[in-house]
Amino acid sequence: MDTIESLKDLLIDELKDLYSAEQQLVKALPKMAKAASNQNLKDGFTEHLEQTKGHVQRLEEAFGSLGEKARTKTCKAMQGLIEEGSEAIGLSAPDAIRDACLIGAAQRVEHYEIAAYGTARAFATQVGEEEVARLLGETLREEAETDKKLSTLAGSVNQEANSGGDGTSGEVPASASGKGSSRS
Ligand code: FE
Ligand code: FE
Repeated sequence: MDTIESLKDLLIDELKDLYSAEQQLVKALPKMAKAASNQNLKDGFTEHLEQTKGHVQRLEEAFGSLGEKARTKTCKAMQGLIEEGSEAIGLSAPDAIRDACLIGAAQRVEHYEIAAYGTARAFATQVGEEEVARLLGETLREEAETDKKLSTLAGSVNQEANSGGDGTSGEVPASASGKGSSRS
């Protein structure tokens, strides 16, 4: 493990983690898009894939701005989040329910990224690396927008997931159709 002697070293370490995380996502998002049934969700994943490629580039610019070579340090958190995403992809369930699960997995990813970019940007600001802070802030804004879009999509997807199953038909279960005797 590299020795961290300054906050700037720690910033570089965080950038390596993010560089790994974003590269993992570039590979995972097409699978999420393919697994999504709802067209808006599918399009959303594809759109965020393009944004994510831009996030990789911005990180390369940030490394460059710091005079560092762009390097990864495996982001184990993202490995775990993507593993959960794979479970959502393979979920044996009605389409809308699988979509609801995919949104849940995707929002976990966005929240992780929001936390990581927020931390890295604060470090960059603290050490006076304004250009790096600006680059990280741009990506942070896109991650937050994506999270918001996913919340909006969840509104309709969850509704569909719920109406596809049982619970909205208003049918009286057989076990509840007694002979009018009300027990107390
Ligand atoms: Fe990203
Ligand atoms: Fe993202």
